[in-house]
Amino acid sequence: MKRMLSGIKPTGQLTLGNYIGAIKQFIEYQDEYELYIFIADLHALTLPIDPKELRKNTKDLISVYLACGLDPEKVVLFKQSDVHEHAELGYIMACNSYMGELSRMTQYKDKTAKMTTNDSIPTGIFIYPTLMAADILLYDADYIPVGIDQKQHVELTRDLAIRFNNHYSETFVVPEPITPKMGAKINSLSNPEKKMSKSESEKGTIYLLEDLNITRKKIMSAVTDCDNEVIYDPEKKPGISNLLTILSVLTNTSIDSLVSEYQHAGYGTFKKVVADVVCEKLGKLQQKVKDIQSGSLIDQILETGAQKATYTARKKLSKVYRKVGLK
Ligand code: ATP
Ligand code: MG
Repeated sequence: MKRMLSGIKPTGQLTLGNYIGAIKQFIEYQDEYELYIFIADLHALTLPIDPKELRKNTKDLISVYLACGLDPEKVVLFKQSDVHEHAELGYIMACNSYMGELSRMTQYKDKTAKMTTNDSIPTGIFIYPTLMAADILLYDADYIPVGIDQKQHVELTRDLAIRFNNHYSETFVVPEPITPKMGAKINSLSNPEKKMSKSESEKGTIYLLEDLNITRKKIMSAVTDCDNEVIYDPEKKPGISNLLTILSVLTNTSIDSLVSEYQHAGYGTFKKVVADVVCEKLGKLQQKVKDIQSGSLIDQILETGAQKATYTARKKLSKVYRKVGLK
């Protein structure tokens, strides 16, 4: 069985983009692959975050993973910081990378572009990709399911793995990124040319655990163009195309058949359909999350996951330490 690995940072409330671009894929893959899914809590520290908020986000993230249907019997489900090999291999990867290639990463450029000249750029955001490379390479993962935004980091991971293998002899499996055919980039509802992101709180982001009246309002006031025709054209009609993508993924219906159904329905009617579907989906999810959080399974699941992940990670790190001369 091929191995697959992915994670989400507990940096903020989870969004519909995280669900469609990541979590939904994980559920589909769990029967087909040996799946390692983690909570990337070390990555959450790369930009300032309140400790209380980090704890809450972590609990919500594991609950959402479970509520969406990740089965801890099939999937190794763990918290990154519980497996200290991530930080250790992260350091080795940092030593094996160049400043030039890290400064070319789009996420680094985007996140730092938002800072003013008076802000100091935290080093963590710069070395994010080397920690991410460690996350992946520790487990000999063959495939990495990610949204488009993270693809470049997986490509850098490939470069680092190949570089290490060439220098020290075959050590790492070189992973391949997998992006979903539909929904690899869900955009903001208020600014449909921009990715929906959990660390950017704004009215265009749908949060999985938010009040559904707010969700409905956000969808009904989603930015669109003014020709009132429901057609898929991401260039000319980014707002409507984004809503079509969301509806298509959540209802498992092709864009073509949605277009033939709603092309002349008018934007108001179409948005109402999208709002109904999203709210129904989120309503069910929120109920399950509530049930999970009132039970006591979470700690046990994370502990078992950490033990399994540590077993694999420790073997790989030992090998790396031998190769580089630390052992
Ligand atoms: P942050 O703003 O903190 O970077 P994020 O919402 O981008 O948060 P990440 O933790 O960086 O979330 O990413 C988790 C997973 O969700 C990744 O696989 C990423 O590609 C995917 N993802 C994030 N946002 C979207 C989106 N808008 N559409 C599709 N996939 C997404
Ligand atoms: Mg991100």
